[in-house]
Amino acid sequence: MEALLDKLSEQHELTEEELVWFLGHLTPELKKKLYSRASEVRKQHYGVSVYSRGLIEFSSYCRRDCLYCGLRRSNSRAERYRLTEEEILDCAAEGYELGYRSFVLQSGEDIIYTEQVLTSIIREMKLRFPDAAITLSVGERSEAFYCALYNAGADRYLLRHETASRALYESLHPGMSFDNRMDCLRILREIGYQVGAGFMVGLPGQTHRHLAEDLLFVKRFQPEMIGIGPFIPHSATPLNGAAGGTVEDTLVMIAMARLMVPDALMPATTAMGTLDPSGREKALQSGANVVMPILSPLQIRSKYALYEQKICMGDEPEHCRSCLEMRIAVSGYRMEFSRGDHCRYNVQL
Ligand code: SAM
Repeated sequence: MEALLDKLSEQHELTEEELVWFLGHLTPELKKKLYSRASEVRKQHYGVSVYSRGLIEFSSYCRRDCLYCGLRRSNSRAERYRLTEEEILDCAAEGYELGYRSFVLQSGEDIIYTEQVLTSIIREMKLRFPDAAITLSVGERSEAFYCALYNAGADRYLLRHETASRALYESLHPGMSFDNRMDCLRILREIGYQVGAGFMVGLPGQTHRHLAEDLLFVKRFQPEMIGIGPFIPHSATPLNGAAGGTVEDTLVMIAMARLMVPDALMPATTAMGTLDPSGREKALQSGANVVMPILSPLQIRSKYALYEQKICMGDEPEHCRSCLEMRIAVSGYRMEFSRGDHCRYNVQL
């Protein structure tokens, strides 16, 4: 086992069989070593910096029906909202005032936000906040749509692959295509976006082999960003009653992904903080190096409910900033307010 950890830390790869074996034989002692190796590797690439992205969740409408997600279209209990262009710009302005230079615009897959609407928002943001990076996370769209948004100034795109196993993917996403999701990721990369993939841990039916496939996928694809979080069951979805993921299993995957893709930007997710008050700090100490404080207006925040009991629902952006800054400092890191590009990208403003 120690030899496998050495290989993973030094060569940044393991075979599928080695990954499955490793995941099946982890002891508490070995987990500690794994986290500390991941932490060292992250420090080699990004030092003690933790990059901040102000998150604007601008619509809770979704045309998809993913079995795990509280925003799924069949969830008639979900309260829906949409932010106007002005409201989105106001959130960004408040974040900019607080020092953020990186914004993420995320929503359910809401086609009311057409290419025209989103390009207008991106152009306006680039005019008002020229030194800030814009990340989009609005789901599967056409190549022309992705191109238009990139040409309008979007820098990055988050589209978690959710699981690299075709069979598991298909069991969780009725009416969706595994191939299309993968094609979207490749197209985004070809266009020039810094691309984020990622997956959930603890999905029903997910085995160590599935998780090994996720690690091998991120190794092959080399995403600039890798979002890994625990699956948290929502009571108004078909997966109500499922066990869900644990903080510990997610920490293992964050650390292993860090060792497989040493220079990735990886968030300490809100889902980790939801399951454990110090979940985000633990993630930072296991290889994560990004935080995503929420900038959406307080009155609609709780309606963006992928899962329940989400943290930070009542916190003003200013409070979020100081709370995160403190948590990061206590963990031995430093919160960064720059654009926080991937280290392969040298963006000229
Ligand atoms: N619609 C966009 C997309 O498909 O990429 C972005 C929004 S989507 C709600 C953001 C992410 O939330 C998903 O990629 C998924 O991994 C995560 N998510 C959804 N439901 C979840 C749950 N119940 N527990 C944890 N994460 C969840």
